[in-house]
Amino acid sequence: MNPLLLKFDTAPFSQIKNEHFKPAFLRAIENARAEIDAIIDNLDAPTFENTIEALEFAGQQLDRVSSVFFNLNSAETNEDIQQIAQEVSPLLSEFSNDITLNLDLFQRIKSVYDQKDALNLSPEQQTLLEKKYKSFSRNGANLSEDKKKRLREIDAELSKLKLTFGENILAETNKYEMHLTDEADVDGLPEGEKEAATQLAESKDKEGWLLTLDHPSYIPFMKYAENRELRKELSLAFASKGFHGDALDNQENVLKIANLRHERANVLGYETHAHFVLEERMAETPEKVREFLNELLHKAKPAAEREFKQLEDFAKELDGIDRLEKWDGSYYSEKLKQKLFDLDDEKLKPYFKLENVIAGVFKVAEKLFGLRFEEVSDIDTYHEEVKTYRVYDDTNNFLSLFYADFHPRKGKRGGAWMTSYKPQYKKDGENVRPHISNVCNFTRSTSTKPSLLTFNEVTTLFHEFGHALHGMLANTLYPSLSGTSVYWDFVELPSQVMENWCYEQEALELFATHYKTDAPIPMELIKKIKDSATFQEGMQTLRQLSFGLLDMSWHGTDPSNITDVKTNENLAFEGTKLYPETSETCMTTAFAHIFQGGYSSGYYSYKWAEVLDADAFAYFKEKGIFNKEVATKFKDNVLSKGGTENPMVLYKRFRGAEPKVEALLKRAGLFENH
Ligand SMILES: [Zn+2]
Repeated sequence: MNPLLLKFDTAPFSQIKNEHFKPAFLRAIENARAEIDAIIDNLDAPTFENTIEALEFAGQQLDRVSSVFFNLNSAETNEDIQQIAQEVSPLLSEFSNDITLNLDLFQRIKSVYDQKDALNLSPEQQTLLEKKYKSFSRNGANLSEDKKKRLREIDAELSKLKLTFGENILAETNKYEMHLTDEADVDGLPEGEKEAATQLAESKDKEGWLLTLDHPSYIPFMKYAENRELRKELSLAFASKGFHGDALDNQENVLKIANLRHERANVLGYETHAHFVLEERMAETPEKVREFLNELLHKAKPAAEREFKQLEDFAKELDGIDRLEKWDGSYYSEKLKQKLFDLDDEKLKPYFKLENVIAGVFKVAEKLFGLRFEEVSDIDTYHEEVKTYRVYDDTNNFLSLFYADFHPRKGKRGGAWMTSYKPQYKKDGENVRPHISNVCNFTRSTSTKPSLLTFNEVTTLFHEFGHALHGMLANTLYPSLSGTSVYWDFVELPSQVMENWCYEQEALELFATHYKTDAPIPMELIKKIKDSATFQEGMQTLRQLSFGLLDMSWHGTDPSNITDVKTNENLAFEGTKLYPETSETCMTTAFAHIFQGGYSSGYYSYKWAEVLDADAFAYFKEKGIFNKEVATKFKDNVLSKGGTENPMVLYKRFRGAEPKVEALLKRAGLFENH
């Protein structure tokens, strides 16, 4: 028997062998197809129940198999699993394409959609109907055959162009190297960085030191290398990728991508690509995004200019630099930061023993939401290091299972994330509770020291735990609207807001004690953490805003008016410039986030999410960071609601008003009088 195909509650990791996956996928896809066919073949007229709800609950077995498999592929993979992933991924996309292109299914959904006002649906049901309908219409289901054909041509061309765009950047990155043979040229680099540059040289049979445009090589060099001319050389090479007028130039590709996206949006009935994307975002329209970015720009600019002046003065005083250039920024910022704060990880780590931080984050969840975490050993796991907890609410109702997997291993990808093995939903009178997991790559214990976290790791743990709370506290009818299934400019609110507790004395004194002496973390260190966290926040803000504005310049208007890539970029960057202009560089031709990845018309969301979390936390600050009333409002209106309603509606119910940028400006120390 294949354990993946049997009914299970907790994932049966210890019984699963790699050879079970492929047959389980094949069978589960077959079963899902049969469930969809049954919806289409239903002789009764289409209703919300027999079509929309039935579709929502079709393919649950496939979802279970997929979540076990893909979570393992991220957290505990090996060559066999990777090979299986290669084989099943095309099968899964074929299956989902077959659904979105199924006209008979769409006809039934459309017929329910067309009578939606007469159906007396709850807000959650309306959202589900809208979501199902849009998943077809946004893929062209309503179009004539001609237009459908054009859509497919555009999509094929776009995926080729995006691939070429990425390949060009990669080729540019791989092509370049800076070979240094005089030790004085690497002066300033920390020993570890010098060693890495030597090893890189050795790997290519060279003497001396080799620098490349890869981040681990490029970033430390810009931060520490004393030789200004070499910093300039590396910086210009880094910032001119895809902009040399040769075979690897990306200017034509950018113009084509932007114009095809625009045409695609027009075919589907939208004014621009940004209108199409933002329809399913909290920000809603390009006008609102622009207004948001410009308001923040207007308010952050004075602080950014003050910080830039401070940096200029510092560089002048230190090295007699008359004109601060882009290749000086990172170098002098690092030196200034050292001078102002003298704070490094080694001073903080003894106060952040992993076990204490975990107990701390649980304590915070208890004080805010009344949660209780009970560590248990009877749950099957995929690795002995994975800890398991049963989570209960304040009336002792079982809420969720929580898996926690903290340390790096060979088969685990880098980074930190939240995921789930089982969604929350309600069906046949039962509230099915979720199984949530946090996976991280934190420093391990050694034979002499326990696992001591850097402050960055502490905020990461709180961040991922915030996503986990969004999953654990979910209380909705439908799995596709549950927990973190929200618009993507809303999904970072629960995670980022949790990070705020890491900077508060009242929270830190719950868990930040010295691992040897139990002494609480000194106030003076807490103050330094806070102050250094907002170092050059104005300049950083302007940089983020410039990327958001550049993104909107390509996607928020008709791009056929743009004839020159660099001119368009200069126009977009106009209000955000601090450093002197360099004509040989171009950001656009290497802006992979928006031209290759999934961030087109979405770059603004980094700052958007910060505004949300600062505004939400300001409410806690005002009433007390452990105020039960505010916490309950946050749980009832945000954390438990998932994507059941428009996020702005949910947020306003929690906060009483729309989010304002002021809380972020205040937290970041960007007000004039600061
Ligand atoms: Zn996150």
